[in-house]
Amino acid sequence: MAEAAVLATRYGNSVVRLLAHHGFNSDISAVDEAEAKGIWSICPECEYRGAPNSVTNHRKKARH
Ligand SMILES: [Zn+2]
Repeated sequence: MAEAAVLATRYGNSVVRLLAHHGFNSDISAVDEAEAKGIWSICPECEYRGAPNSVTNHRKKARH
């Protein structure tokens, strides 16, 4: 849960502040950048987005 601790201690539990700190805002989507860099992928069957292994797990759970 290190990421939760970092979020709590450095960003007051605010994901918006975390994203802003890294230069992301409503115009620069971290999700879009992650996808563009191939860090994240999208489920071809629905709109689920996540790390490639998350998408694999999602597809097993969703059975598609
Ligand atoms: Zn899906």
